[in-house]
Amino acid sequence: MKLVDEYRDAGAARKLAAAIARRATRPWTLMEICGGQTHSIVKFGLDELLPKTLTLVHGPGCPVCVTPVELIDAAVALAGRPGVTVCSFGDMLRVPGTGADLLTARARGGDVRMVYSPLDAVTLAAQHPDREVVFFAVGFETTAPANAMAVLQARRRGLKNFSLLVSHVLVPPAIEAILSAPDNRVQGFLAAGHVCTVMGLAEYGPLAARFRVPIVVTGFEPVDILHGVLACVEQLEAGRAEVGNAYARAVRPEGNVRAQEVMREVFVTIDRNWRGIGRIPASGFALRPELAAFDAARRFGVGADAPPEATECISGLIMRGTKKPTDCPAFGVRCTPERPLGAPMVSSEGACAAYYRYRARKTAPAVSG
Ligand code: SF4
Repeated sequence: MKLVDEYRDAGAARKLAAAIARRATRPWTLMEICGGQTHSIVKFGLDELLPKTLTLVHGPGCPVCVTPVELIDAAVALAGRPGVTVCSFGDMLRVPGTGADLLTARARGGDVRMVYSPLDAVTLAAQHPDREVVFFAVGFETTAPANAMAVLQARRRGLKNFSLLVSHVLVPPAIEAILSAPDNRVQGFLAAGHVCTVMGLAEYGPLAARFRVPIVVTGFEPVDILHGVLACVEQLEAGRAEVGNAYARAVRPEGNVRAQEVMREVFVTIDRNWRGIGRIPASGFALRPELAAFDAARRFGVGADAPPEATECISGLIMRGTKKPTDCPAFGVRCTPERPLGAPMVSSEGACAAYYRYRARKTAPAVSG
């Protein structure tokens, strides 16, 4: 697959790493926002190619990891109700709530289905008018347009038995929360390329200016990520704090305008609770009041209580960049992918799962070439 090979080329990666080493004259700490970027960094050992003075910390952009416990508990409770079918993506089924995960709910007899698209859940609702079909809608700005389309399709088809359990979160308020924390050490961001494909660049300019941090939109392959790191380091060394685009092959400044319109038609911005991090103002989506009939939390009266989280899991500190997965005493001992204590050990985008998979056994593969 030529297109991908080009962005995994070992020679190109080494040249970029050498350019970064030449430019970085002081210690800098950068955060990659997205869990997909974290997995690339750890899998390909990109952080180990960089100068020791450059630290990469891992941000909150794993949607499964930040889904609050109360909504997982709500999904589990709904799965236990007669006549209700709960649908979600595969990773979400294994994330522990207070007492159980959705796979456990299924083992107890609940109707829990793994789907690949929210539109599959709409189809299921049309095929089973005798059942209530709830889609557990988690994710950032990337998944919000498809989930919004599912609601619009269900309305167009006149479905009365389809609803969303909404847990949508937004990247810019999370960046603001990280930068506002007294113990923040992040000096530059690699923003998530797919989020910006939808949203464009405009939201990031005020953050870069207010906090004096460069924010560089970055892709997901090794060469993409090293391009983003280089662009960020160049700004830091020059004393600049601007929004850069190191993923121009996918991201336009204005983003996907039609997708933004669909999101606005279906969602309003609200405060949201982030697992491990806490409440962040104006950091998520809820369904608009006129679409309340499609809101599973309102229809079934679930998801309001926020239970205390397990104290042993330090995922919040990891996602704010103050700790790494290997700093967690439970890492690889009491917390493994087979028996996860926290969501970052479950998700395919979770930082703890990446470290366990690629670092705990010291098997990080090299880039090709
Ligand atoms: S290793 Fe497990 S317990 Fe520790 S932070 Fe990661 S998910 Fe939480």
